[in-house]
Amino acid sequence: MVKLPIYLDNNSTTRCDPKVVEAMLPYFTEYYGNAASRSHEFGWKAEEAVEASRQKIAKLINATPSEIIFTSGATESNNLALRGVAHMYKAKGNHIITSEVEHKAILDPCKRLEKEGFEVTVLPVDQYGRVSVEQIQDAIRDKTILVSIMAANNEIGTLQPITQIGQLCKSKGILFHSDAVQAVGKIPVDVQAMGIDLLSLTAHKIYGPKGIGALYVRKKNPRVRLESLIDGGGHERGMRSGTLAVPLIVGLGEACDISRQLMPEESQKTFTLRERLRTGIMNQLSDTFLNGHPEERLPGNTNISFAYVEGEGLMMGIKDVAVSSGSACTSASLEPSYVLRALGVGPELAHSSLRFGVGRFNTQEDIDYTIDLVVREVNRLREMSPLYEMAKAGIDLKSIEWSAH
Ligand SMILES: *Cc1c(COP(=O)(O)O)cnc(C)c1O
Repeated sequence: MVKLPIYLDNNSTTRCDPKVVEAMLPYFTEYYGNAASRSHEFGWKAEEAVEASRQKIAKLINATPSEIIFTSGATESNNLALRGVAHMYKAKGNHIITSEVEHKAILDPCKRLEKEGFEVTVLPVDQYGRVSVEQIQDAIRDKTILVSIMAANNEIGTLQPITQIGQLCKSKGILFHSDAVQAVGKIPVDVQAMGIDLLSLTAHKIYGPKGIGALYVRKKNPRVRLESLIDGGGHERGMRSGTLAVPLIVGLGEACDISRQLMPEESQKTFTLRERLRTGIMNQLSDTFLNGHPEERLPGNTNISFAYVEGEGLMMGIKDVAVSSGSACTSASLEPSYVLRALGVGPELAHSSLRFGVGRFNTQEDIDYTIDLVVREVNRLREMSPLYEMAKAGIDLKSIEWSAH
């Protein structure tokens, strides 16, 4: 018997792995020292745990422990990377390159930097959501100090050609930052092989707790320097002051360790389940479209548009399954996803899309239940849709003159 509701929104956040919670617990009530307390056992225990966690994170991305800076999450990591680099290297240049499909935690800090006088090139993407190395090459100027391109997209799962971008940046002496939140722990990420100088990650997307993340800051070839966002005490090599959240840090370390160990089998499992879901839905329903790259994508992610159906309405109709729609509920207006729009998906199909994020705790029963529910609900909604009736009758909807009122 399948357990309801089913959670298929693992690109938004993930369930904390019980093993992670277990590892964290002693650091609330037994080893509760301040990791900066050098004079007693409580402090030493906390510091030991923090360093062990740093090691686990570093191992997952092939970095060294002292290159890991703890933050409150990837939003802060991205802000620290962008503003930290921009302010530190402004004598060298004022130009930054990024892409249209980045998370708001990249695009919004870029907007703020533009107000300060920095110039930002926001590259368009192809129909699958990819930027090319050639585009970046063409955008590079004498004044370019930073390229920031995500490793994997949070809505459509598309993977970017990170290794090639890293090589290009290296050859030009430009720093390369990657928001790798969705990739870390799911697919191999190697800051050396990929030529990444700064990398953002967060615990709550990899079965760890919310409110803790890290920024990898390269120490050698080149040594990256950052202006801090938060001062006071000089923690984290002066880049991020504040008492370390020891239990959360332990959780992040444990989450990284578990993900590293499970990655080969887990990525195979989530891939198999998402393909079962995708084919199960798309083979039974006409007029459905896959968003994002067919192959170059995260193993657990699929994103499908259902023509003639409103995504929000569909979501309401499948309440037992937690997913996200392509309508971002920003303020009062229901805007279609800017990521889908960047791929050239029209507003109707963007509004009719659902994102399914398969994760560690999903079962085949979850997937089969979801397929049946989605197929039934889409058919039901389409039967009530005059547009679908017209389309079925062979009327070209584009030819209809819509009356304005
Ligand atoms: C979730 C996410 C973030 C934000 O991370 P928080 O830790 O929630 O601040 C940034 N970038 C991407 C790609 C994400 O998926």
